[in-house]
Amino acid sequence: MISVDEAQTVVLGHVSTLPAETVPLARAFSRILRAQVTADRDQPPFNRAAMDGFAVRSVDAAEPNARLRISGEVRAGAWPDRRVGEGEAMRIMTGAPVPEGADAVIQVERTKMAEVAAEGPFEVLLDASVRAGQNIVPRGSEARAGMVLLREGIRIGVPHLAVLASVGVADPQVSRAPRVAVIVTGDEVVDPGGQPTAAQIRNANGPALSASVRAAGGVPTDFGIVPDDAEKTRAAIQLALDQGHDAIVLSGGVSAGDFDFVEEVLGQLGVTLHVTAVRVKPGAPFVFGTRGPTLVFGLPGNPVSAQVTFELFARPALLKMQGAGRIFRPLLEATLEAPLANRSARRNYLPVIATQGQGGLTARPLKTQGSGDIVAHALANALAVLEPDRQDAVAGDRLLLFPLSSFLEV
Ligand code: AMP
Ligand code: MG
Repeated sequence: MISVDEAQTVVLGHVSTLPAETVPLARAFSRILRAQVTADRDQPPFNRAAMDGFAVRSVDAAEPNARLRISGEVRAGAWPDRRVGEGEAMRIMTGAPVPEGADAVIQVERTKMAEVAAEGPFEVLLDASVRAGQNIVPRGSEARAGMVLLREGIRIGVPHLAVLASVGVADPQVSRAPRVAVIVTGDEVVDPGGQPTAAQIRNANGPALSASVRAAGGVPTDFGIVPDDAEKTRAAIQLALDQGHDAIVLSGGVSAGDFDFVEEVLGQLGVTLHVTAVRVKPGAPFVFGTRGPTLVFGLPGNPVSAQVTFELFARPALLKMQGAGRIFRPLLEATLEAPLANRSARRNYLPVIATQGQGGLTARPLKTQGSGDIVAHALANALAVLEPDRQDAVAGDRLLLFPLSSFLEV
């Protein structure tokens, strides 16, 4: 048995990067960016009014109660047709280019129209003094043309889409999405829509693992449920290999039972096994192999084991395949609220609820029956990491959490 860290190193050592492709912005969300993005022009591209109001010369309004002649108007999207001269103000809208001559914008709420003859000229009274630069975002102050705004390897989120759009990258280069076959094994497993007999259970892993594949940027193909039969297992895996999937995720059949055929069949199909057991709980029977460029993950059938081993090994591999800059979820340190024991010689991942308290992050252990307890796992937002060599953890101990989702990744 090797450690989790060693197994991760072995798995990642067999991952090569998929080619890039371009996709329209509308389909780029959550994909991994594969080419850096630079500013095509200064941002903002002109001195931009940050308020609706009047563009003025600060020297004309250094004191409150200045009275200025309104010489024109600038709308957003229009270039000013004149400059602001001495004693003048131009009506301006948020997002419009500030006309030459003006060096400040006074917001409309700090002004009122002066009483003048019906035919004008119209004048405005400023009820505040104005300083140079006020309410103007200078050209190039957010970014200079040519500056790198997005680095390759980021996962495109909402703000990145806004940046891509604003610099005119309508078809960003992203990684091709990994194609992943999901094969569930087990005589006892029936479709969630089906009726299990007294001795059967519903397929929890198929839907969960397909969603995990998607969340990691892959496209799952559901191969359905394969019975515990060597021939049928071989046929399913053979098909997945022949179809050129980038990865195959198997659930079940990797333990020492009389009807656990996965490892044997993988060997027969020419899959080289690089990992056959890991010092991890849940998930020790995890196997990993490759045939050519195809990665094969044999996850244990116990649903929590399947989800945890996917998180630990398959997800980082799929992210690395896509050229992601961050492939591991950053661990968080937390204070334990109640004792936790690790009674195995393996690294334990135990379900907790992490909460941000006054003294920082705390972790409340959840009662769990172990690797089959999807109910406890579904209540957790993180897993406490207990090393095999440590004493039982007690309330108040600081320990590391593996978050089940994280904003600390891009
Ligand atoms: P296995 O790894 O095939 O020995 O399965 C270990 C445990 O997980 C057994 O209790 C199985 O019934 C259960 N199990 C296997 N596959 C699934 C699945 N797709 N959904 C829910 N439970 C499963
Ligand atoms: Mg089984």
